[in-house]
Amino acid sequence: MSHLFQNCKLTSYYKHLLETLGNDHPLCRTVLPINDRAPLSGELADPLGEEKHRVCPGLIHTYPDKVLLLATLKCAVYCQYCTRGRLVGPGFQTFENSEDHDDVLSNEWKLSDNVFQTLENLKGVRDVLISGGDPLTLPDAELDAVFSKVRKISHIRTVRLGSKVPAVMPERITPKLAGLLTEHRIWLQLHFIHPAELTEEVGLALDTLAEAGVPMVAQTVLLKGINDDADTLTELFYGLLENRVKPYYLFQCDPVLGSSSFRTPVQKGLDLMQELQGRGSGLALPNFCIDAPGGGGKIVLHPGTVLQRKKDSIVLTNYQGKEYLYPDNL
Ligand code: SF4
Repeated sequence: MSHLFQNCKLTSYYKHLLETLGNDHPLCRTVLPINDRAPLSGELADPLGEEKHRVCPGLIHTYPDKVLLLATLKCAVYCQYCTRGRLVGPGFQTFENSEDHDDVLSNEWKLSDNVFQTLENLKGVRDVLISGGDPLTLPDAELDAVFSKVRKISHIRTVRLGSKVPAVMPERITPKLAGLLTEHRIWLQLHFIHPAELTEEVGLALDTLAEAGVPMVAQTVLLKGINDDADTLTELFYGLLENRVKPYYLFQCDPVLGSSSFRTPVQKGLDLMQELQGRGSGLALPNFCIDAPGGGGKIVLHPGTVLQRKKDSIVLTNYQGKEYLYPDNL
């Protein structure tokens, strides 16, 4: 079955997991190249309008008090629904043939000092999310350097790091890396989409992080036919809690070009949240939200944030009372 993944960039670990689960398992769809990516109206290469909020290469400033710092453009595994597919990986249509992708620790993208100088000048910023790409594909020494430069800036109070590495390359999580994250007081914002990702190896990696005192939350993208049912999400969210990871956001899939095979109608997510609410602990419940197209930020979906339903879209209001249109045409 291994030929199935010959055009995918996968780690040895994740490839083995997918092969063990079988090629009918919904997780396989998340990494297999898609040939038919005819875009629907409202879909964009840069759905969150990040480029217009880029204040210098590697720094995106959308909210007044926080910034997104792109530390690398590489990932351990490339997700077909990626919001940042315009930047990271080999691109939607052009996956190169490759063997296993365990060479990701050698990285070519280098942050310039201008990023940290710009950050120093953004006095209103308190919170930095280090993302990419996946920053945990960087070697420890490079991470240490980035953390140290960010931590030197006195107005930065919280530093978060977004990563899917614990789910797809658990052997990367060493006591040394966990110690580094603790030393710099980094919050981990992890990307998990399915309970099948919570294997024994992943459990051990999360245990290493938890024992070192690294605070962890998880983000999940709601994906059609992959995790869009209450049983799968309940299993995932409780599995995360068991591993001392708080489910934080359940994201409506961003309307990135050619993403319709992954996106669900918005109502589906609202219905699922209602069902989940009746099922168990509030701790196992993330916020269901849409990252507003065009850069309006995250909008947690409850009846008050959905202003109007149109034939092909819904009108949302963000934290500033501004209105945004999400293409709800599935
Ligand atoms: S790990 Fe994150 S940044 Fe990398 S391809 Fe997947 S969704 Fe995109």
